[in-house]
Order: sequence, then structure tokens, then C-alpha cells
Amino acid sequence: MIIGIPRALLYHRYHCLWETFFEHLNLQVVVSRETDKAILERGGVCAIDEACLSSKIYLGHVESLLGRCDLVFVPRVSNFGQRDNILCTKFEALPDIVSNTFRHRGIKLLDCNIDGRQSENELSAFMLMRKKLGKKRFQTFYAYMLAKQAEKLEQDSLAREQERRLEEAEGLKLLIVGHSYNVYDKFIGGPILHYLKALGATPIIADRVDRKRALSRAAELTSTMPWLFNRELTGAVQECREKVDGLILLSAFPCGPDSLANEILLRRVSGLPTLNLLVDSQEGAAGIETRLESFIDIIGFRQAAKTAKEASL
Ligand code: SF4
Repeated sequence: MIIGIPRALLYHRYHCLWETFFEHLNLQVVVSRETDKAILERGGVCAIDEACLSSKIYLGHVESLLGRCDLVFVPRVSNFGQRDNILCTKFEALPDIVSNTFRHRGIKLLDCNIDGRQSENELSAFMLMRKKLGKKRFQTFYAYMLAKQAEKLEQDSLAREQERRLEEAEGLKLLIVGHSYNVYDKFIGGPILHYLKALGATPIIADRVDRKRALSRAAELTSTMPWLFNRELTGAVQECREKVDGLILLSAFPCGPDSLANEILLRRVSGLPTLNLLVDSQEGAAGIETRLESFIDIIGFRQAAKTAKEASL
């Protein structure tokens, strides 16, 4: 049996968990290719106009998997239980959106339901998938435990690598504050990371800051934000703000949670140059080089003025 996984949305956060789980169940996994113009255009055709760019891209990835796998893995992730650990509603609706969009094209989904408020946690959701996959209870449990182990190792290693870069990198360090599926997507975040490096700056990724530490600091900036991923990003800003030279807020158009979270950051993180980048499906990130160049110039001028002022005292 071949499981298809769209390389979009939560894939960028959970790819290690998902791929390891299926592989330990002896299932073949096929992941859709990196986002390109064709995927973006097809996603735009499949989605409603009001959908955010990230979910349009997701539908393009799903379509690219049709005919290449037996089941397309589309999890429903509503919340992780506690009052403020909810996700954007897109993740709650995803299996319904996908099955309705492709219902005439014979799509078969492998879905699961993570809804901690209804006592359906990640483990129970993964265990229930064994019925559709024809796997035994113990084998599924074992595969899940191995996948969690692999996920933790990967996260720890990424966080360590990031801390090292934060301490050791020369030149400008800019914190990229955005969802993993936007930052790591080849169409949305890819050109931005690439251009920053070409300009000699070091991008520090907020999503790679140790998540527990980041969450524990989010309340210093907001005690009411309900979305888990946005709270992690907010806390990551608190963790890194003394060590970076500027913030780049990266969002996909139109995103409700980010519009609120970014406004909080703009109002409450003072003294740090901040660039708000909104990527849409028309031009993607390709047209924003000039804004990145100006931002880096402004930081340079500010730092030069500060050094001159300190020297004159
Ligand atoms: S948080 Fe924003 S970008 Fe992410 S799925 Fe929701 S609306 Fe789209």
C-alpha cells in the first residue's frame, strides 16, 4: 500500500513523525514534489478565492498525488487539549475540504482526528488508523513510539544547531517569524531565505527555537492568544530578541491568526527593526528583494548611528 503525503501545511512540522510511523508499518510513502508554479496554479484553481495561500498550495500538492498512491494522508488536527492549544480552523476542516474538492476524482483519504478536548489525542488518533491500514495493535503502537523518538531527536538537533548559529554567526542575524509551512515552502519562504543569505545575513528561524521554552515565554507578550503555533512563535521572539538585529514577520495572504499575532509583535516588541512581509499568490516572494535590501540598509544605518553616538559620549 502506498501512502501519499502532500508536502505542505503540517507536513513541514511533522514530516519526521509521519514518515517514520508509516515506514515502521512497512508502508511505502510518496511525498509530493517541492512547491512550484504548476502546484501553486492548480491549488489556486481547486481552492476558493478566500483561502489563504498556504492552503491553496496544499490543494495543489494533494492534486499532484492523485493516481500516485492508494491513500492520501490528510489528518484533522483541531487542538491538543488545553484551553489555549488550538490550531487554525483550516487544520480542523482539512479532510472535509480535500474530500469535497476531489470527490469526483476518486480520491481516497487516510484521515485521523486529533481533538484533545474530546479525549482524542495524537496516540489514539494514530492507533485508530491501523484499522484502515490493516495493521495490528502492537505493531502500530511500536511504530508510533519509534516515530515519536525520531521526531524528538530531530527537533533537539535542529534547536541545538540553531542555538549554535545564533551564538556564532557573524554579521546581521534576522529572526524569521513565520509558520513552518511558510518558511520552508520553496515558493513562499525559499526565495526570502535564499536572498537574505545572498545579502550576507544569517536567517534565524523562530520555528526552530526549543518549543517548550518558547511557549513558556509567550505569556510575556500576550496571555490571550489561543493559537498554539502563534504562541510558540511569539515566545520565540522573546527568547531571541536580545541576540538578533531585526525581525522579519512572514505571512501568507490572507491569514487571520497571523494578522493578530503580528500586530501584537509590532506593538509590543520595541527597539528592534521589524519588516512585515505578506506573500500572496500573484507574485510570491520573488518581488520582495527590494524590501529586504532596504531593510538591511536601514539596520546598517541605525547601527552605524548608534556606534557614532556611543563614540561621541
Ligand atoms: S494559520 Fe494562516 S496561513 Fe496557516 S492555515 Fe491558518 S489561515 Fe492559513
